[in-house]
Amino acid sequence: MASVDVEMVKCACTDCVCIVSLEKAVMREERAFCCDECADGHKDHPGCEHAGCTCHG
Ligand SMILES: [Zn+2]
Ligand SMILES: [Zn+2]
Ligand SMILES: [Zn+2]
Repeated sequence: MASVDVEMVKCACTDCVCIVSLEKAVMREERAFCCDECADGHKDHPGCEHAGCTCHG
């Protein structure tokens, strides 16, 4: 396993508790989100891809 130095950041969605690597994060306006739902501000439905997370923008 190669040594990887990945920066981990909290999802920029206010209520979201998910931590994402900048490598995999969904970037919107220079903010990192854990998924498209968060990045889009939960227009369609609350919650995110991660079980137990009740964020809704
Ligand atoms: Zn989440
Ligand atoms: Zn999120
Ligand atoms: Zn969210």
